[in-house]
Amino acid sequence: MAKRDYYEILGVDKSASAEEIKKAYRKVAIKYHPDKNPDNPESEEKFKEAAEAYEMLSNPEKRQRYDQFGHAGMNGGGFGGGGGMNMDDIFSQFGDIFGGGGGSPFDSFFGGGGGRGRRARKGTNLRIKLKLSLEEIANGVEKKIKVHRLVQADGVTFKTCSTCQGSGQVRKVVNTMLGQMVSSSTCPTCGGAGQSINNRPSGVDSSGLTTKEEVISIKIPAGVADGMQLSMSGKGNEAPGGGAAGDLLILIEEKADDVLIREGNNVVYDLYISFIDAALGTTIEVPTINSKARIKIDPGTQSGKVLRLRGKGIKDINGYGHGDQLIHINVWTPKSLSAEEKEKLESLRESANFQPKPGKNEKGFFEKMKEFF
Ligand SMILES: [Zn+2]
Repeated sequence: MAKRDYYEILGVDKSASAEEIKKAYRKVAIKYHPDKNPDNPESEEKFKEAAEAYEMLSNPEKRQRYDQFGHAGMNGGGFGGGGGMNMDDIFSQFGDIFGGGGGSPFDSFFGGGGGRGRRARKGTNLRIKLKLSLEEIANGVEKKIKVHRLVQADGVTFKTCSTCQGSGQVRKVVNTMLGQMVSSSTCPTCGGAGQSINNRPSGVDSSGLTTKEEVISIKIPAGVADGMQLSMSGKGNEAPGGGAAGDLLILIEEKADDVLIREGNNVVYDLYISFIDAALGTTIEVPTINSKARIKIDPGTQSGKVLRLRGKGIKDINGYGHGDQLIHINVWTPKSLSAEEKEKLESLRESANFQPKPGKNEKGFFEKMKEFF
């Protein structure tokens, strides 16, 4: 999935001032805010996308780098357009956007509903590593993974927080030169949830959560790569007091294959043939990701020649077709010879046909690699 232009996401043009960018982001963030669009992955994606765009364009240094190099200049990036920001990062960014201190003035935009100033806390993210074979990466795979999640314990009851009387916020009146000002911040007792645990069965933490082993089925799309991070929203730890669960983040690790080397979406196979087969030609079986293929070696094949099995590589993660399998031909020179073999080869040594005469089709290694990668 190609990343959208940051300016386009926020709907401003390239010459927009910092103030215009802030204003535009505020508008987009309100439109796609998850409180306003519950259980709508599309708006959540847009919300995250806008947060990332703002994060980049509000920083003069990052903005300059982006103007100059585009997305390629922003190292890190992220997988699948989700960007590198999670919801916690985004909400903490709001302090700057909407003014105000520790509380979330943002909530006041939505009034009613969940109650002003009280934002249910989100559960934390769970991170796991997942090792995949080349075959699993090439075909995509569904894995069942055991995870230990924090879930809300049965039989736990809550009482309204006595510090904040359930509002999640504490107010403080401060005397300043300009008169009395009221500032509000997140309640330190309940962390903004507005309630605290009443009874606490064994194995349950102070926020009413307990660890539970669960088997989660994860669909890995074909074409993932080492270091990519997939995210399953809502499969992380549950939130204390009933907020949205965190995400399950899955870090992909690639097991090295014994015979095939991955190069982007292509796989490379090193084939060794005898110089007799190279001279006379033959057909030979080579392993592919999912099975085997027979390939033809033409008479007079040079060492270093690269053959291509079209479409036998890895499926592109963004749906741009399949990579290829490249077969790199190495002509094997015997390391020891019997007296009889030596004699036969000696008789051929002076033959004009055995003297190297590279023509324009016999390109060197670098020339060939340029053509194939
Ligand atoms: Zn409280």
